[in-house]
Amino acid sequence: MEEFDSRKVFKAGEIIIKQGDPGECAYIIEEGQVVIRHTDSEGNEHVLGTRGANAMIGEMAIIDNAPRTATIVALEDCKLLEINKKDFTRRLQSADSVLRMATQVILTRYRDTLTRAEIWGERYQWPPAEMVELSYAETNDAVQAITIANEFRDALLSKYVQLYYQPFVNLQTGEITGFEALMRWNHPKKGFISPAIFIPVAEESGLIIEASKWALHEACSALKRIESAFKSKNKLYMSVNFSSADFSSDDFVTSVYNTISETDVAPEQVHLEITERVLIMQPDRAKETLRTCRKAGMSIAIDDFGTGYSSLSYLHYFPIDTLKIDQTFVRDMHKNEHSMALVNSIVTLGQNMRMTTVAEGVEVKEEAHKLREMGCELAQGYLFAKPMSESDLIEMLKHWTPYKF
Ligand code: C2E
Ligand code: CA
Ligand code: CA
Repeated sequence: MEEFDSRKVFKAGEIIIKQGDPGECAYIIEEGQVVIRHTDSEGNEHVLGTRGANAMIGEMAIIDNAPRTATIVALEDCKLLEINKKDFTRRLQSADSVLRMATQVILTRYRDTLTRAEIWGERYQWPPAEMVELSYAETNDAVQAITIANEFRDALLSKYVQLYYQPFVNLQTGEITGFEALMRWNHPKKGFISPAIFIPVAEESGLIIEASKWALHEACSALKRIESAFKSKNKLYMSVNFSSADFSSDDFVTSVYNTISETDVAPEQVHLEITERVLIMQPDRAKETLRTCRKAGMSIAIDDFGTGYSSLSYLHYFPIDTLKIDQTFVRDMHKNEHSMALVNSIVTLGQNMRMTTVAEGVEVKEEAHKLREMGCELAQGYLFAKPMSESDLIEMLKHWTPYKF
């Protein structure tokens, strides 16, 4: 309980939660009584019940971003214990992966029950008798997710998971400056499984933390091997993707430090790729973590820039070195003048903020030329090289000459 130790007092008649408002926290009632009311789309009010000591209210807010579905008013003076979304998420993320998956399945099913109950409640009577049965329909997805998570855990141990590497190319000189490590899962029966499928499952199950540790270690070791096979004028770097769960793990920084020293790469050769989501979900923690990493010499890149949250104010708040322009904008540049304008604006923004800009998903020469003209510094994409295994990469690098624009 101490970790959620934020107490609130509401006087009799005060609104604790208002229907339609965004919700950021749930409460446990320590003392007092509350009433829960739901107003339907025709304006009719339904009293859903009352709650007293030890009951939890507003619980959906800590598992999703939907607005409050009911208004809760104090019937007498109430003392409440606040549980905010951030604390809850952090606790959940540090839980055992099976426990977490089970919790998420149950919570998702519960959300489903409530959503259906609202639809039925508006049309029929509140609460509908069928609501529990109706909620079972979605469980198949969850079972599949647990299966994938279990198989992924085994794959990590048995090395069916590998890293592929995709070069970054300097748009002025055509030289390779570094590589991004991308995870690949080669399933013995199902073949290659896309990261778009297994990364979200690994994130949800908590396995991503172990996977990321492995990836960083493997990528840094590979960089040493690549360096000895490919002599570059400048020091090459390795960019590794991290998820929000990695940042909530208490030993993240220690583990990154240890890996860097064990593999004997310079911290300057390690770039951390994160999405805006990581920053938004845990701003204070992320800031602290990124600061420490950057102080040690590592670089921080924002992945898929432009697709996440619209507020740009975070660019000031966090220590950021690189903006990676999402490939959807790059791909549309020639068909869509808005995408072209957006890419141009991001490049200018990067220049003004003294950040490096990288264009992702460059597939054709014209895109590379245009990006070069705009002043975008680096690019990645099939035009230069697809992600490939370490041995293919080393083979390719033997014959690599700077790209000619
Ligand atoms: P991402 O980090 O944005 O990676 C870029 C994706 O674009 C990669 O997909 C890459 O193969 C693909 N790509 C690169 N150049 C081109 C191009 O010219 N055209 C097109 N159409 N695609 C291109 P991939 O490898 O399937 O990875 C998908 C996503 O999975 C990644 O997006 C990243 O978010 C996640 N991911 C992959 N590996 C890891 C990992 O080790 N850790 C974490 N946390 N996430 C990872
Ligand atoms: Ca990336
Ligand atoms: Ca990306």
